[in-house]
Amino acid sequence: MDYPGNLFVVAAPSGAGKSSLVKALLELDSQVQPSVSHTTRPPRGQEKHGREYYFVSEQEFDQMVLADGFVEWAFVHGNRYGTSKRAIEERIARGADVILEIDYQGALQIKRIFANAVLIFILPPSWDELRSRLQRRGEDSPDTIDLRLQNAAEEMAQAREFDFVIINELFERALFDLKAIVHAQRLKFSAQRRARAETFKALHIL
Ligand code: 5GP
Repeated sequence: MDYPGNLFVVAAPSGAGKSSLVKALLELDSQVQPSVSHTTRPPRGQEKHGREYYFVSEQEFDQMVLADGFVEWAFVHGNRYGTSKRAIEERIARGADVILEIDYQGALQIKRIFANAVLIFILPPSWDELRSRLQRRGEDSPDTIDLRLQNAAEEMAQAREFDFVIINELFERALFDLKAIVHAQRLKFSAQRRARAETFKALHIL
């Protein structure tokens, strides 16, 4: 199905800077809307229900799975996370661009359902940099950091399945790359014909 809006899916190992990049894009580009996922993990710090996530119980998550409410869902670091159908389908059908910040398993599931989804993988510039970003973040114990690094190897091997790769060495450069990908989608023939219908008509391009 060819929807008028774009669906961007961003995945990365933890510490690669995915959330900061997506947040910066959302601040710069009001045409892009975030999708709020459901999760069974408890809220951290200042997180608010309905803003970062919909925090639900295992039972509520089960009910949504049974009711076929998710486009994709996956176990990530021991908790379940899912993208609800409602969060994306009606919005891209209306012409909004939606961005999902999810793990690689979810991203690959999305691509099977929405063939036009644009999959973007964010890589760190090196192992050393990834490790020091996780340490600087100060959120995790040394054991958790080791586990995240082990998981990162498996996650990064999936980058080959993605349409685009951004290496987040310099934040501003990575943000420029992300904006470029979003912009390029809007320049595709079908998108331009929709957005500039009058011009196309005047130029006799059907
Ligand atoms: P965190 O708990 O740190 O916010 O997120 C842990 C991981 O789960 C991150 O890689 C995040 O992108 C991923 N994640 C968040 N929401 C979803 C979702 O709806 N589906 C999937 N598959 N992964 C998600």
